[in-house]
Amino acid sequence: MAKDPVCNMNVDEKKAKYTSDINGQKVYFCRSECKETFDKNPSEYKY
Ligand SMILES: [Zn+2]
Repeated sequence: MAKDPVCNMNVDEKKAKYTSDINGQKVYFCRSECKETFDKNPSEYKY
């Protein structure tokens, strides 16, 4: 399980629809809103 850094929910990597690639690392999100929030300000979150 990966962790959504925005809301701290567990996300199944195999089913995740919303991901971002940052500094060569893949980050998973539970929903598009979390991805958008993260993409606006990635340095705010631990990933
Ligand atoms: Zn989320």
